[in-house]
Amino acid sequence: MKIVETIADMKRIRQQIVEPVGFVPTMGYLHEGHLSLVRWARLENPSVVVSIFVNPTQFGPQEDIDRYPCDPQRDLALLEKEGTDIVFMPPVAEMYPQQFSSWVEVGEVTDRLEGASRPGHFRGVSTVVAKLFNIVQPTRAYFGQKDAQQVIVIKKMVADLDMNLEVIILPTVREPDGLAMSSRNTYLNPEERQAALVLYQALTLAQQLWSQGEKDTEKLRREMLTLIQEQPLASIDYVSIANAETLDELDVVNLPALVSLAVIIGKTRLIDNVVLG
Ligand code: AMP
Repeated sequence: MKIVETIADMKRIRQQIVEPVGFVPTMGYLHEGHLSLVRWARLENPSVVVSIFVNPTQFGPQEDIDRYPCDPQRDLALLEKEGTDIVFMPPVAEMYPQQFSSWVEVGEVTDRLEGASRPGHFRGVSTVVAKLFNIVQPTRAYFGQKDAQQVIVIKKMVADLDMNLEVIILPTVREPDGLAMSSRNTYLNPEERQAALVLYQALTLAQQLWSQGEKDTEKLRREMLTLIQEQPLASIDYVSIANAETLDELDVVNLPALVSLAVIIGKTRLIDNVVLG
């Protein structure tokens, strides 16, 4: 496994590896969710590149990027075990030199949900992912459904800007009790970890009511809100039932519908989602 830290080296090595190339962008502190993407990439491509880069431009001024968990030695050991060929882990100054001033902005779909709560977040995401695609030039790039809106934004960027790669989406990997795996789960103390289950419980409730015939999104949302409000450590950012492609909010469940939510548990903001239909 090669560890590459500069863009020039990454581009040079890219010329020497066997096509097709599978690529998994991450911010590190890897868990089974990330590793499921790496395994799929490994199955489908003779060459696998994983990036580890905690992208400062997708964090708001109020969000503590310095607190983001980080353990490169552990990450590298996990990636080696999965048969990764190349790990690209550039320093921030390599990706954003002082004179950096170009940004990728994807339209409307970035205004709402995560985009509304975290202004500038998707501009940072689409810019760094565009840069990584240009540097790594993957044949296929793998993303998790856990970040449902991110998936929509990346797909839109790739389509609108005619990027030459396939975007592959894989299901959310969960803990045995249902909590979606996330690097941020490490912030939770035992009591908060228990409380965090409320996200999955609310999504499961919506799924259950919908499969019993409830199609009125206001009723579904109300049931979800009531359940979450019963958890004293939880405070709700948003609960949304939207068209799974446009993210327009729905009055009546039309398929496929994305049920997504952001909830703050203690001080930790968690997101999760399910697709109906
Ligand atoms: P991150 O390191 O949080 O930027 O995530 C890197 C990639 O892993 C993104 O495509 C995420 O959607 C994906 N990912 C994160 N958590 C999970 C999970 N629990 N299941 C599946 N994919 C995930």
